[in-house]
Amino acid sequence: MVHGFVLTLFAAAILATAPFVLDHAEASGFNPRLVQQGWRAAAAGALASLALAVPVFTPDLWTAPARAVGINPDIALVHVPLPAQLLVAGAVLTGLVAGWRRGGPVVRDYRRALRVQLDRLERTSPVLDDVERGHPRLVIVEDTQPRLVLLPSRPPRVEVTTRALDLLKPEELNAVLTHMAGHLRRRDALWMTASEAMAEAFPRLRFFARWADHSAALAEKGADADVEGPIARANLRRALAKLSGPGQANGPFCPCFAWPQQRQAELDQTTRQPRLPRPPVAVAGLRALTAAAVVVPTLVVVSPHFLYL
Ligand SMILES: [Zn+2]
Repeated sequence: MVHGFVLTLFAAAILATAPFVLDHAEASGFNPRLVQQGWRAAAAGALASLALAVPVFTPDLWTAPARAVGINPDIALVHVPLPAQLLVAGAVLTGLVAGWRRGGPVVRDYRRALRVQLDRLERTSPVLDDVERGHPRLVIVEDTQPRLVLLPSRPPRVEVTTRALDLLKPEELNAVLTHMAGHLRRRDALWMTASEAMAEAFPRLRFFARWADHSAALAEKGADADVEGPIARANLRRALAKLSGPGQANGPFCPCFAWPQQRQAELDQTTRQPRLPRPPVAVAGLRALTAAAVVVPTLVVVSPHFLYL
């Protein structure tokens, strides 16, 4: 039982404190990829802790099927009054069903939007799927709109219109593709959808709303940070200036040409004077917090008295 409370309190502590710590880290100029990692680890750690706490509070309920068929699960479980167990199980189930009803449409919208974009591409420029399976591919579409969009399909596609190709120099296109490869490596589109779905599903938890607010901008800044070297960064800055504005596809995917002024200023600043490295203690602190979110629930589970302390 102690472990159940430890896990619940740990999850509550993460959900309450992580937004402040991570907002502060972002404001003080930490690498956006590190801050993004912090949000993801905090969300995963809090959810895992809560999920692990449930079986501790409801021992008779989840062992009931085994006992019904005559198997006695030979583990010493903590005694929890049956009404309390039913109350916990009922609250969890109600929360999950209500959360799915609110957050489910976000996931469905994402899938539908991806399908619509892929169907459109298939009609205008069919590509052979059996060539270089698993590699991102560039799909060139004839269009007067300067559009350059990353579609997180399988395999991923980058749609680029002939107008965008006219506007961009090859090295600028290259910088944008490096940026997009960063999104694919970190699965940014999926995580952004997950954060939005959680914010819709549990609107009272401030943590998820803050995460959803930050996830798109952090994904873009993180992918900008993947473009290294002053020349490549200057190329990305020029590409942003040329392609931001009307014509870019809206949808649930990475908004690669959003916040152009702010991102151009950052790319320009780091091109001229490299950002000073963060103090190692602060970086270690943020890394430790990120690790704790995942390690603590794991430790509790592997401890020998997990279920009956
Ligand atoms: Zn992007």
